[in-house]
Amino acid sequence: MNRLDGRKNDEIRNIRIIRDYTKYAEGSVLIEMGDTKVLCNASIEDRVPPFLKNSGTGWITAEYSMLPRSTHQRKVRESSRGKVDGRTQEIQRLIGRALRSVINLDALGERTIWIDCDVIQADGGTRTASITGAFVAMADALYKLYRQKLIDKIPIKSFVSAVSVGILNGENILDLCYEEDSNAQVDMNIVMTDKGEFVEVQGTGEEFPFTKEQLYDLLELGEKGNRMLIDAQKRALGQISDLILGTKPQVV
Ligand code: UDP
Repeated sequence: MNRLDGRKNDEIRNIRIIRDYTKYAEGSVLIEMGDTKVLCNASIEDRVPPFLKNSGTGWITAEYSMLPRSTHQRKVRESSRGKVDGRTQEIQRLIGRALRSVINLDALGERTIWIDCDVIQADGGTRTASITGAFVAMADALYKLYRQKLIDKIPIKSFVSAVSVGILNGENILDLCYEEDSNAQVDMNIVMTDKGEFVEVQGTGEEFPFTKEQLYDLLELGEKGNRMLIDAQKRALGQISDLILGTKPQVV
């Protein structure tokens, strides 16, 4: 099949991860997956929500939003409507779960990491790009705590990234853009660690239910995409990635 942008079915879009994108957040990353662009900021707060007070454990929470002109038609800001819609809630919870799954929250101590993912431009796969970019922002924020000797090692157990896969005109494709996403028969988001484990799989074949065999093929495609994304995260993080992976001893 000829994809709109000339990619092969198992190719991801051009990925760009720019660290230190804005200056106040402890971790700030702009991630681009083709025309999808998301600013992911990670902020550290020295307290936890009430349910974790005096537990010695930390927390990670995420917010997600699309800027009004990130899409074809202007989208009214949710804050001006006074409520968060179901899709936004689903996405911000997904981002939070994905990041919590790879962090040792006990080793974080009683701190909260706030992740803010703001979509600057949407062309499909904004939730998956948010997860991939937020991981890098979170690693940067944790590295700052480590450099300040507030934690004795970076409490990251694994890398985590996410990619979309789908079935379009009977073919399995990786990393769908908006046009592909809106015509796909099956649409799936796959969140994985660098150890090849699945953190979350969200798949829908609303009008075109899919088989177990198709699911396996899509999972494999997702694994391939996530491997490429985790390589990009490692490249972006440079020596911090060695510290996380333990290939370099964690001594300040
Ligand atoms: N989209 C949009 N307006 C919206 C929601 C979505 O223009 O209110 C577009 C946007 O390009 C997005 C795509 O539809 O990336 C797919 O949306 P979906 O809800 O599947 O989430 P995503 O793939 O971005 O995680």
